Amino acid sequence: MTNMPKTLPIKDQFFLPDGMIYLDGNSLGPLPKGTTAQLTQMVEDEWGDHLITGWNKDGWMDQPARVGNMVAGLIGAPAGSVTMGDTLSVKVYQALSAALKMRPDRRVILSDNGNFPSDLYMAQGLVQQLGQGYELRVVDPEDVASAIDDTIAVAMITQVDYRTGRMHDMDTVTKAAHAAGAVMLWDLAHSAGAVPVDLTASNCEFAVGCTYKYLNGGPGAPAFIYARDDVAKAMQPALAGWLGHDAPFAFEPDYRPAPGIARMRVGTPPVMQMTALEHALGVWDGVDMQDLRAASIHLSELFIEKVEASCPDLTLVSPRDSAVRGSQVSFAFAEGYAAMQALIAHNVIGDFRAPDIMRFGFTPLYLDDDDVLQAVDVLTKVMRDRLWDNPMYKARNKVT
Ligand SMILES: *Cc1c(COP(=O)(O)O)cnc(C)c1O
Repeated sequence: MTNMPKTLPIKDQFFLPDGMIYLDGNSLGPLPKGTTAQLTQMVEDEWGDHLITGWNKDGWMDQPARVGNMVAGLIGAPAGSVTMGDTLSVKVYQALSAALKMRPDRRVILSDNGNFPSDLYMAQGLVQQLGQGYELRVVDPEDVASAIDDTIAVAMITQVDYRTGRMHDMDTVTKAAHAAGAVMLWDLAHSAGAVPVDLTASNCEFAVGCTYKYLNGGPGAPAFIYARDDVAKAMQPALAGWLGHDAPFAFEPDYRPAPGIARMRVGTPPVMQMTALEHALGVWDGVDMQDLRAASIHLSELFIEKVEASCPDLTLVSPRDSAVRGSQVSFAFAEGYAAMQALIAHNVIGDFRAPDIMRFGFTPLYLDDDDVLQAVDVLTKVMRDRLWDNPMYKARNKVT
């Protein structure tokens, strides 16, 4: 452990395949070196040798709180305010239902149409389940602050738009919510590990996010959930699982919530995933989030400048102003799917979001100027020589 700021990038701490330029860490972060050894140790020594005693001996039961504290450090939250588990969709549901219970005389969940569909689907499912006039109101992202009035129970907003990278100002939106008496729930899926976040300063009630994107926890890594201290002490969990009980091993017939954020735990934690994540979070030790942000803006600006100069058929759909852009850059192109497939075939990995968006993530932990310039060279070739115009690149895969 060291508090000396690390100089970015720290590529040597990641396994990156030779010759690959990976611009998709916003969707799935790469494998940190050492994660494999850590997992092997957990499987062989802990699971293998210790079996059931691992829950105590190896600290598996406390892992969601321990890892939660590591995440808390990256999002400006105090120790003890974050717990881990389940998927982000589940954590959205839990936060949203607890938020609605805090405003029993209000019926409206406000979100925006730049939100990730699963967040909207979870809200729709919850509204249906509750009945009683509950509704989800979805507005344009620019209209969020002005749409918050005294009918809104909770504003459920994802800070960074997964398609365009457009970024909400947490302070403005949270203040608008609180001025109208609404509860504020932030989804930090594309913020945690990408931009500096100060949850304590924001004063929001709830925040959630995932850890397989910028936090490099691996496919299926558990999500996080945060609640402000006063909220955590009073909130009523909709998913009242035994590990969110005050005394799980008392096996009482009736639910009594654990103190604080631990009541948002549900069932048995995924220890292997949690172990991979715990190791991956160690990589951040000594990384200054302001340095990371500066590097992210630099890489993004370089990419935008070079692509606009050499690929006239691509249209920037991310905000040009870096102050309102997360850590990704997106370009629209009618044949974007095929163009992305051609890029991937040439070992430059980004992804595609319907209907026409080519998305590139800039992750300063393991990317530098050279990577950006090489990626632009390949993209320029794909566009100039119409490499995308090949049936091979046009057949859609299940995951785009
Ligand atoms: C990535 C993402 C999700 C994914 O949810 P999972 O349940 O982890 O699959 C949800 N919401 C947002 C805003 C995301 O960016």
